[in-house]
Amino acid sequence: MEIFKNLINGQWVPAQSGETFEDRNPARNSEVVGVFAKSGKPDIEAAISAARAAYPTWRLVPAPRRAEILFRAGEEMIRRKEELAQSMTREMGKVIKEARGDVQEAIDMVFFIAGEGRRSHGFTAPSELPNKAAWCERQPMGVVGAITPWNFPSAIPIWKLAPALVLGNTVIFKPASDTPLTAHRLVEILNAAGLPKGVLNLVHGPGSVCGNALVESDDVDLISFTGSSEVGRHINAGCAPSFKRVSLEMGGKNGIIVMDDADIDLAVEGSIWGAFGTSGQRCTASSRIIVHKAVVEEFSAKLAARAKALKLGDGLDEKTDVGPVINKAAQQKILEYIEIGKAEGAKLLAGGAAETSGPCADGWFVQPTVFGDVKTSMRIAQEEIFGPVTAVIPVGSLEEAIEAANSTRYGLSASIYTRDVNKAFHAARDVYTGIFYFNSATIGAEIQMPFGGTRETGNGHREGGTQVLDVFSEWKTVYVDFSGALQKAQIDN
Ligand code: NDP
Repeated sequence: MEIFKNLINGQWVPAQSGETFEDRNPARNSEVVGVFAKSGKPDIEAAISAARAAYPTWRLVPAPRRAEILFRAGEEMIRRKEELAQSMTREMGKVIKEARGDVQEAIDMVFFIAGEGRRSHGFTAPSELPNKAAWCERQPMGVVGAITPWNFPSAIPIWKLAPALVLGNTVIFKPASDTPLTAHRLVEILNAAGLPKGVLNLVHGPGSVCGNALVESDDVDLISFTGSSEVGRHINAGCAPSFKRVSLEMGGKNGIIVMDDADIDLAVEGSIWGAFGTSGQRCTASSRIIVHKAVVEEFSAKLAARAKALKLGDGLDEKTDVGPVINKAAQQKILEYIEIGKAEGAKLLAGGAAETSGPCADGWFVQPTVFGDVKTSMRIAQEEIFGPVTAVIPVGSLEEAIEAANSTRYGLSASIYTRDVNKAFHAARDVYTGIFYFNSATIGAEIQMPFGGTRETGNGHREGGTQVLDVFSEWKTVYVDFSGALQKAQIDN
């Protein structure tokens, strides 16, 4: 079997230790999808040196020229979309329609951000002094370490790599160990599109070693991380001593509010998609459904019936609704949370076990699980389970619903189903999240809009939109005095 290598300084090279690791299909655990370089600190150091050496030249390449490479990569991603989607489903399990969506999101982002090669505007402002000009422009940060999770293995890396590159940074990309193949394919495409050597480097290997080496390096100027809040906290602390910029996109415990005047069938439909899409393994997954007591019985019965009818199996089968979870450890963690929910007194309405029969016999599957009678204080209503488990929380009013929505340490996404525009506006104003939806689930972000969350979901940065440019660049203010005399701001007038 082919051993997939790292890309360092334009060369595909094995780990210096010669070690490798396997990437397995979570739907068919006996199937090895690929064997990858298991890198260590020396590999990361080599990649950092390459990125550092490439930076002085790359930062001076005109941004429209840098963008041309991204446009070419985007065209190639369109050509290879189906191949990318198929290999993604094989390595991480999401159903093929969603894998195609993940690739499409990456394509959309590449083209959107490549447009910034001719835009990424600065601004001018009038000077308070005569014969003096003032403007502001973006300058690159330098060497970027991009550390990404497995659940959106093409979209999330591209959210980081495309803006980093178009702005003139050089990059070391450390993808999740569960999705190295998608990372390999993306880098292969970007590299073949014409990136000079050292501008984009790919290093596979354990986060605790390779990710950590990026965080600790004095030669890395920015860490852009998406993943769990636990790892994010560690990265944040690791970046603090050197004041390295760090952008963190982390967990969520997103709530859908369903009011008594909602279209219940639409709310059920949205909740099924929000809770069980990507087997609940989305940072924006609808893991809490906060339902008005007047409709909670009808809603819960319909939701449980729909959850029980979902078809589990290999995501490559077009008829599969819900694929596996990422690996055995994830399956065990999710099953433990189901036991915690039962012990806390929540009512199990659907699912509640691993699925081990038929097409699920050789994979890591968990039945779509619905808990009813959940209280906001329960752990299943507070902690990110990251699997196909959702908690129905009954409430008596809009105020109580908003309080419940705000009751976790996360703040990524929330939504409300209601026919009352006043309630919708109140909730949009008072729920403290980075993203809010009316009459749809907590998922469905579009790349041209800022993406990110409040509280322990993030540290104030936003990806997506043009706001992402602020992560990967630094503002420089330039003053030009063309008076030929000494002029003193704030003093002369
Ligand atoms: P992890 O935090 O476990 O891993 C994320 C990345 O960090 C991986 O590349 C991992 O490498 C690496 N890593 C692990 N330990 C360290 C370390 N000590 N130092 C540096 N890097 C490290 O998250 P998952 O991959 O399991 O992804 C799921 C999480 O991501 C969920 O919490 C989810 O909510 C969040 N997420 C947030 C999003 C957002 O935009 N807010 C979007 C998508 C997901 P390795 O794989 O080798 O362990």
